Amino acid sequence: MCPPTDSSPPSPPGNSNTPFPWHIGLFDAHCHATDTMSSIPLIHSMRARGLTIMATRSQDQALVAEVAAEHGVSNREALSAETEGKGKGKGKVVPAFGWHPWFSYQLYDDSLPEWASSAGPLTGEMKEKHYGSVLQPEPDKKFITALPDPIPLSQFISQTRGFVQYLQAAGKPVLIGEVGLDKAFRIPWPWGFHPPSQGQGSPSPNNEDDGKGEEGTMTPGGREGRMLSPYHVRMGHQQAVLRAQLRLAGELGVPVSVHGVQVHGVLHDVLAGLWKGFEKEVVSRRKMKMVAPGAEDYFSSSEDEDYDYSDDDGALGRKVKPKLEKNPKSYVPKPFPPRICLHSYSSSPQMLTQYIHPAVPAEVYFSFSTAINLSTAGGASKFPEVVRACPDDRILVESDLHVAGEEMDRALEDICRRVCEVKGWELEDGVRRLRGNWERFVFG
Ligand SMILES: [Zn+2]
Repeated sequence: MCPPTDSSPPSPPGNSNTPFPWHIGLFDAHCHATDTMSSIPLIHSMRARGLTIMATRSQDQALVAEVAAEHGVSNREALSAETEGKGKGKGKVVPAFGWHPWFSYQLYDDSLPEWASSAGPLTGEMKEKHYGSVLQPEPDKKFITALPDPIPLSQFISQTRGFVQYLQAAGKPVLIGEVGLDKAFRIPWPWGFHPPSQGQGSPSPNNEDDGKGEEGTMTPGGREGRMLSPYHVRMGHQQAVLRAQLRLAGELGVPVSVHGVQVHGVLHDVLAGLWKGFEKEVVSRRKMKMVAPGAEDYFSSSEDEDYDYSDDDGALGRKVKPKLEKNPKSYVPKPFPPRICLHSYSSSPQMLTQYIHPAVPAEVYFSFSTAINLSTAGGASKFPEVVRACPDDRILVESDLHVAGEEMDRALEDICRRVCEVKGWELEDGVRRLRGNWERFVFG
């Protein structure tokens, strides 16, 4: 299915002259529409059929819930009926509740013995102690004073459990996200707290965070174009915040949308650590020969269940036919999420193969965006190779944009055309496949 890589390939089926088949239903697997609340009314008139909207920090959890209450997808059946022009209204939003690694410092890990007696937000010396331990290098007191009072991780987890269970009780789709790890990010200078190079190093009372950001239109708490300070969030703390959310997704049986920058090995280790002991059994061909005739049929009922990889014995292996959970109500809680989307996947094809190894007990999807995957020359050159390596049934598209409307539609159309081009899919076929993948990721 891969298009030729030599010079002058034939014009791909996903080329820009083909009208885009919006009627099939294109879905954004990851976006931040609630960062610009004034754009929310535009969702109604967007050509995209559905948006998976992420929450990231304290300020946007309730906004995502609010938008889902008004524009939420009811269920899978309603989605199909509405796309075909039947049914009332058009639910378009699937909400995700989560805490992004960029804001992980604003939570304190109250599972640690040192915080066992703390309950609410930390202030004064306790606040200094927390930020001193999770930020690197250690910031001075003035900087710490300008940061929000950190809240307990357990409190956020309970709040998220509440949002998810509320929607689950109504039979509506819901995710946990955006969660993850980021080694490159540094926290922005608080509002009014200018970098020392600009001659100031303390908050100005006239320019405090008024909750509106510089432009006054963005939901507060994001980066909002602020310059970055030298302070990183220690990886150990990011991992603790991530693990707690992945465990919650496993407990409730909901999919997650995961962010990972410059941490691909660590991220895999965190996930693999959670599903340790739950790996699917993989039987080598050599061992399979030892089982009774006919039993082999149980292990592999079709050709596409064969995998070319070596097990510990160095022999070719096959995966054991997985037990399908047909009734989601029979979901048995596990310490890891059932389905995982690695959003704007920017690691190597080699890393990708680790996630699709037949022993992995979670379904891992890979999502791509023009905004992240094609924003640099390096990303653009890697893109075709990674997309080709991605199994056809595990690929998703996303905008990762902070504003709903035409720009989001354009971004989705663009990434969809590019994926179809690399995969050699006719555009209609590609949109149909991507829709099927999104539905499986969201609904199971
Ligand atoms: Zn994002």
